[in-house]
Parts: sequence; C-alpha cells; structure tokens
Amino acid sequence: MCNNCFLNEIDKFENANQWESFDVELSNKLGQGKLHQIKVVTRILKYGEEEIFYVYECSTCQQKWKLEEPGDHSDGHFIKYSTFQQLARRQLKNRQVIALIILAVIIYVIIRAIFW
Ligand SMILES: [Zn+2]
Repeated sequence: MCNNCFLNEIDKFENANQWESFDVELSNKLGQGKLHQIKVVTRILKYGEEEIFYVYECSTCQQKWKLEEPGDHSDGHFIKYSTFQQLARRQLKNRQVIALIILAVIIYVIIRAIFW
C-alpha cells in the first residue's frame, strides 16, 4: 500500500458514483504504469482451457490488489490479494462445516430409520 497504488481497501462500493470515480482512478494508474495486471490461473479446465482472474500489482510497493466489480450479485470490492485469499479460505471452511453438519444429520436420520 503506497501513494502510487491505494492506501485503503474498499470492502464494498457504496454507490455508482464511488465505483465510477474509483474506476477512473484505477484506469489512470494503469495508464501511468503505476499498476499492472497479472493473470492468476485458478484451475486448468478440459482441453487446456484456464479458469483465470486478474490481480493488479503496484509497480512501486509490489502490493497485489483484487478487484471485484459491482454487479447484480455483489457490491464489489477492491482489497489486498492476501485479504481476498483469507476470505476465500474462510468461505471454503464454512462450506466444509455446513457439509459436515448435513452429513451428520443424514447419518442420524438413517440410524433412526434402522433402529426405530
Ligand atoms: Zn503501492
């Protein structure tokens, strides 16, 4: 985080104005070479296709940033890539816990059905 990239993370874009002015600022910084895009491959699909997204790396402090544009599903965010990875890990953990609970309920129901 430095003056050449951004000093704050944006957890969500509050409104269209904030997003538009941010978008302009980001485009300017890209145009000036203060930031550049890096491709991140998350998965190799069939036929060698890649599932990818882009992060922005600061040319000065090497901080990596992850942008999610606001849309129908979310308000979007612009956060450090490390923050994004933490969030992703936490979401995965939550999903695993939910899957375990569902499994436990299914086993309970089966046991009750057998020993009724
Ligand atoms: Zn920077």
